Amino acid sequence: MAPNDGTQLDPWAGSYAARAVGLVSSEVRALFSVASRPDVVNLGGGSPYVSALPLDDIAELCARLVRERGAEALQYGTGQGTEELREQISLVMEREGIVAHPDDLVVTTGSQQALDLVSKVFLDPGDVVVAEGPSYVGALGTFTSYQADVVHVEMDDDGLIPEQLEETLRRLAVERRRPKLLYLIPNFQNPSGVTLSGPRRIQILEIARRHKLLVIEDNPYGLISFDSEPLPALRSHDEDGVIYLGSFSKTLASGLRVGWAAAPPAIREKLVSASESTVLSPSMFNQLVVSTYLANNDWDGQIKVFRELYRERRDALLQALADFVPQARWTRPAGGFFVWMTLPTGMNSKLMLPRAVSERVAYTPGTGFFADGRGSGHLRLAYSGPTPDRIREGVRRLATVIDAEQEM
Ligand code: PMP
Repeated sequence: MAPNDGTQLDPWAGSYAARAVGLVSSEVRALFSVASRPDVVNLGGGSPYVSALPLDDIAELCARLVRERGAEALQYGTGQGTEELREQISLVMEREGIVAHPDDLVVTTGSQQALDLVSKVFLDPGDVVVAEGPSYVGALGTFTSYQADVVHVEMDDDGLIPEQLEETLRRLAVERRRPKLLYLIPNFQNPSGVTLSGPRRIQILEIARRHKLLVIEDNPYGLISFDSEPLPALRSHDEDGVIYLGSFSKTLASGLRVGWAAAPPAIREKLVSASESTVLSPSMFNQLVVSTYLANNDWDGQIKVFRELYRERRDALLQALADFVPQARWTRPAGGFFVWMTLPTGMNSKLMLPRAVSERVAYTPGTGFFADGRGSGHLRLAYSGPTPDRIREGVRRLATVIDAEQEM
């Protein structure tokens, strides 16, 4: 019998909406089942290390919440999210220089839902989203699910290159294509680990304003900084032209699925209506868990725990790369979860993956982070999950694969 490839035997294949053509399992997701085998060092995933949370305290908090505020926590809420949490989020954003009134905020089911809402509200088929190259695979998937075209702009060690952005916008204008959104991850970018420099933030905002490009500032990693205080957010310089997306996934717990968007008032209203049409309201229980945690627990202490844990893992990864794969190049992140590696010329990270998995190490091929098939000479290494020793062992295994490929 022919293997079921999931499309040929689908009796509904002719019924899907045109936009569903782009809804295919991402390379990152496809990797998860292999990479989660215990004998494989998983440098692919990039999940937060939630085992570092005080689980007993959180269990007690949840039990108390149900006992004391159960009728509220287990009920529907409003589409915009609770005022209590939005007030707390306003204070969180002050840490990055943003003055946001609680009314400016929409609580979402993770910042991933905020990406979907922004896309739903702004993107028609054929619209262009300008994004860093490489960029976050989950955002690329969302934009393309709304049939938008993603056009990448080159980065260097200081983030997106403003001159390249100008050049790209000029080219799009000649081609009569309409760029609507500029999607940026300014801090410890996923997947490159790179941070957009302070002066470039100002330059890029000026270019975006001139070209009437709405900026999406996606910042889930900003508070996971190892060496310095966070730079002022793009939104701290421009409230009218920037939608800011935040999340508790990396600073508290990704499984709670609590994120938010801060947007200009007219846009914020559209986002709330769009969210109501998908989820009615974000989870009340999870919002109250976050609020109660922020009010009663030592969140700053927890962020410090995460920072130290990830810094140690980053250091282990950078040291192992220097020791075992000196022939490659890689970025040096000052926070977040990711290092972006450039393989020696001619090597292909996607073709090399099966061999890496048989050597019991997993990474994410660079091609997943470009909408146009580029990236095969790169790969993403995530240091958030494995212990420093496992990271070193993983890089040692990766080095044997790279050495073998080079000899072929
Ligand atoms: N944006 C970026 C850049 C991310 O890396 C992620 C998570 N990997 C998200 C958004 C989605 O995060 P959340 O858990 O808040 O939905």
